[in-house]
Amino acid sequence: MSLVNLKQAIDHVGKTGGALGAFNVSSWEMAAAIVGAAEEAAFPVVLQAQWPFLEYAGAEVAAGLLADLATRAKVPVVLQLDHAKAWEQVMACLRAGFSSVMIDASHLPLAENLRLVAEVVRVAHAMGVTVESELGRLAGVEGDLVVATIEASFTDPAEAAHFVAETGVDALAVSVGTVHGPYKGEPKLDFARLEAIALATNVPLVLHGASGLSASALQKGMVLGVRKVNFSTELRAAWLTAMRRQLENPEADVLPCVRTVESAVKELVAEKIGILKG
Ligand code: 13P
Ligand code: ZN
Repeated sequence: MSLVNLKQAIDHVGKTGGALGAFNVSSWEMAAAIVGAAEEAAFPVVLQAQWPFLEYAGAEVAAGLLADLATRAKVPVVLQLDHAKAWEQVMACLRAGFSSVMIDASHLPLAENLRLVAEVVRVAHAMGVTVESELGRLAGVEGDLVVATIEASFTDPAEAAHFVAETGVDALAVSVGTVHGPYKGEPKLDFARLEAIALATNVPLVLHGASGLSASALQKGMVLGVRKVNFSTELRAAWLTAMRRQLENPEADVLPCVRTVESAVKELVAEKIGILKG
């Protein structure tokens, strides 16, 4: 249908109380699987890429392929840069045609975080591109983003309200107990905090580190204002498991392997979209 920005896609899914699934791409067949699953579910989706993948593929080349896939899709697709740490990464993706960016300056002191995010919002909005940012810090590992448990912090509702008002971000990623990467033990989410942030900010909230969360936790989050949910670890695990199985056959050829891996990722994405449709 079309390449849309995050606000346009959230307006679409929010009407039904649903949330967008945002899935990280680290190979071409992952992108095809994500869009394929969204088309079958007739539900919008966010194709996300982190800087290490874009650096490997070339931001312009990757954006060209992904934007073309998005434009030809039968559902609205958001093409978003995930967890940008630097101004240069954001600018490269704005030039390359991304429809949304996440600037994650949560490692900076609040005043510097605010200044950088507000500047990104000013430039991105001038181009019709939406901006997600994060307040509080999730523990765990996501690509080149590594946060030790001791450095992690939960989002403060009052600080979040100030941050949203000062920066003009379109969506806010919150830290309420999720982690990037696999969970050690049962995930414990602070839903009271999530509700307080939603009431204080009045912007769509984003749940990162969703691999390993139960359907009921996701549904509870959606009721409280979560409108975008980020998955990466589970997709990469599905890709690797399917590929390992394929490679047990010494006669395996590349294209059949890739097709099988794509199906495995697509099945997982379909399951997640099924939960998020509301
Ligand atoms: P997981 O890798 O834990 O699913 O987190 C995804 C994420 O938050 C991407 O930004
Ligand atoms: Zn994340």
